[in-house]
Amino acid sequence: MTASRPVPHSDRGAAAPVRPAHEAEATEHRRTEAHLVEWEARLRAIEAAHAMAEHIAAFGHWRIDVATRTIAWSDGIARIFGRNQERATLPLDTHIGFYHPDDVERVRSAMDEALAGRSRTLGGGYEHRSRLLRPDGEVRVVAVHGLGEHDDAGRLVSVFGVCLDVTELVHSEQRLRQTGEAMRATLEAMDQGLVMIGPDDRVQVHNQRARDLLDLSDEVLHEGASFAAVRRHLAERGEFRSAPPEAREWLERGGFPTGIQGYERRRPDGTILETQLAPMASGGLVCTYTDLTERRQGEAALRSAEADYQSLFQNAVIGVYRARLDGGIVQANRALARLHGYGGGLMPAEGFNHDWYVEPDRHTAFLKCLETEGHVEDFVSEVRRHVGGERIWVAETAWVVRDAEGKPVWFEGTVADATERKRAQALIEHMARHDALTGLPNRRLFQETLSREIDGARRDGGWVAVLCCDLDRFKAVNDTFGHPAGDALLRVVASRLRGALREGDGVARLGGDEFAIILPGRGGARRIAAVARRLIQAAGRPVDLGGRAATVGVSIGVAVWPKHGDSADTLFKNADIALYRAKDSGRNTFRFYESGMALAVATRNLLEIDMRASIRSGGFALHYQPIFALADGAPQGFEALLRWDHPVHGSISPGAFIPLAEESGLITQLGAWALHEACREAVSWPGDLRVAVNVSAVQFRKTGLEHSVMRALAASGLPAGRLELEITESVLMQDSDAVIGSLHRLRAMGVRIALDDFGTGYSSLSYLCRFPFDKIKIDRSFIRDIDEPVAAAVVRAVVGLGERLGMAITAEGVETEEQLERVRRKGCTEVQGFLLGRPQPAAQAMALVAGRAAA
Ligand code: C2E
Ligand code: CA
Ligand code: CA
Repeated sequence: MTASRPVPHSDRGAAAPVRPAHEAEATEHRRTEAHLVEWEARLRAIEAAHAMAEHIAAFGHWRIDVATRTIAWSDGIARIFGRNQERATLPLDTHIGFYHPDDVERVRSAMDEALAGRSRTLGGGYEHRSRLLRPDGEVRVVAVHGLGEHDDAGRLVSVFGVCLDVTELVHSEQRLRQTGEAMRATLEAMDQGLVMIGPDDRVQVHNQRARDLLDLSDEVLHEGASFAAVRRHLAERGEFRSAPPEAREWLERGGFPTGIQGYERRRPDGTILETQLAPMASGGLVCTYTDLTERRQGEAALRSAEADYQSLFQNAVIGVYRARLDGGIVQANRALARLHGYGGGLMPAEGFNHDWYVEPDRHTAFLKCLETEGHVEDFVSEVRRHVGGERIWVAETAWVVRDAEGKPVWFEGTVADATERKRAQALIEHMARHDALTGLPNRRLFQETLSREIDGARRDGGWVAVLCCDLDRFKAVNDTFGHPAGDALLRVVASRLRGALREGDGVARLGGDEFAIILPGRGGARRIAAVARRLIQAAGRPVDLGGRAATVGVSIGVAVWPKHGDSADTLFKNADIALYRAKDSGRNTFRFYESGMALAVATRNLLEIDMRASIRSGGFALHYQPIFALADGAPQGFEALLRWDHPVHGSISPGAFIPLAEESGLITQLGAWALHEACREAVSWPGDLRVAVNVSAVQFRKTGLEHSVMRALAASGLPAGRLELEITESVLMQDSDAVIGSLHRLRAMGVRIALDDFGTGYSSLSYLCRFPFDKIKIDRSFIRDIDEPVAAAVVRAVVGLGERLGMAITAEGVETEEQLERVRRKGCTEVQGFLLGRPQPAAQAMALVAGRAAA
């Protein structure tokens, strides 16, 4: 600190005078001295106190000498200006230079004004608040007050000034201002309305948003406005009508709520406003207003969407659920709950697990697929209902739901009842492997089963027999009674075949009247023949077809693994070959496969080829068997019977090649040839000897028979009355109207029609009424068994009918005199048989007749 104290007090500048020394004066002097010392001390104490005050209060003072334009500082000033090193008295301009460059000019002019006595400040001083610049660069703000000091003449001598460091004050003022601004900005930027009310119930602070939300003009809501008035205004507008009652109470009473309060109300314009009231410790109240219209609308929309979704979810006809990754179902709709068997479609409160599969590994497979694929499509499984445990089939689709990071959180899925679908599928599968008519396995399942049985026998030992069955004369039944009856017969036979077997044996229908049976077994194979016999017996029993009895037989071919073939195919083929042989050997019988049979079948195919060749090359011939009248033994004519002289095999019987010719269609050509040949032959016979020609049912099926007959007659010149056509019942069994029409036309030409093989068909007697035959030929089997009552009765009945209808009755196959005698006694009119003449070439036959006639 500066040593001297330069503060020039006006009363101190003129120091007390020192007087000359004498005693009294000396005493006085001493007193004065002491007084002075005391004064000095006091002054110093005051100065010290002054300096301390300046120090503590951060102010200082100065005095500007107007005459010298110098300024004397106190220590306080030096401290404020940060210039303790400066002299206590310095030129005024130097002092002014200590101010902040931006303020220097202002300070200078204020001082100049004051020193020039032009100051408008009271007492000719000055006053300013300016910034100064400390040597270390710090800027401080000072408030300066100057006061003019005048001499007795009134001239301005000096200006005494006080300088106060107001930097902190300015800063805090600044901060306060900034805070205020920030608060104002915040208030205005707020989405909420805010009104702050003082304890005097007057508005202290509010923002524009509050005015907007409450729809108040600034005349009503402004700083200082009475909040009671504001509230009244709102109440008059009916703003509080929809406020909750507890809020209304104090709103209308006009008091403040205790504690923080909030309520929501719908304003008259429909917007929704939330008001929050927070009492302040100082006794005031802060009200905030929030527009909830959009939020509430959004919430309502969300609620409605949620309700829509829930409705969709709950009312879906298929099951929908959400499950944890471990399968625990957290949400399920009614359909799923119902599927699980929960009454009323209510899901149990504790939830349930997704695991309900009948197959134990199914659940793991389901979850595994979800894990690896992320979804499961059309996962069809048999499941057990949770409630009741009933088994049903379901088709499931499921997918994994992931969070934002792609981590699986749960899975969702749909479950549809697939029981019906599965049932339909099973039905389709069953149909693909079963015969619709009989319900028996079809060819496909038969083949699968046979392969499986063979594999089993190969593994475990034993044998497997295949029995190929073909119904005899089924076609005739079908043709006679119609297809529905044929179907009924097939069903009966199927069930009889089934019944003749035991558990583990299988019967299949391969198509038409073909059946096949699989017999697996061990040890001796004697059982096979026994089964075959049982089957023949069962199938051969008459079948009742709506009151009419029909009888079919069955022929069976048998092949046994491993003896007759190694594979299913070979085995079946060989059983089929054995079947041909069984049919050839008179039907209604069975044959085991033998290695030569394959050749026989091959031969059969070759025969057909040969037959074609023979038709062309004239390998066929007609033999003639005579027919005699029983009354007088006179020859009536001859039956023409086909003979085939095979170039290699020799003579082949018609019983063997006629069916073959019928199957292949060659019968048309062969039949036409026979007609021509027979007519050509017969025209040379004497008298009115007739020729009988056999006509197959197949020939009737094709058009052209009538034409063929006419050509034969025309070509030969044989009178129509000498031609007789022998037809069997099977001809009439076909589309009988057409056939009967054709027969009538033939008969109209004069051709005679005979019913051949009478008694072997099914409804012989009924046919007799449908067409006026010229002749009935009783089948050989009746003549053979004529001693038996049934056969005798049939013969008697036919004869009776023939007499009444004027038909000739021929007994066929008479081999003995006894038979001849009997048929004569029964009333047959004609006779034919080995006893009276075998079929033989025309010349011999003629010779025989001539000889007999001569005899
Ligand atoms: P079917 O019309 O009943 O002819 C009579 C068959 O009985 C002939 O056999 C004949 O030889 C045989 N027969 C005659 N008397 C006796 C007898 O006293 N005892 C025995 N055991 N048999 C006797 P065949 O010639 O073998 O003819 C067999 C069948 O072939 C015929 O039976 C006929 O249905 C058919 N057939 C023959 N020729 C023709 C033809 O030209 N056309 C057609 N469609 N079928 C023919
Ligand atoms: Ca005949
Ligand atoms: Ca016959």
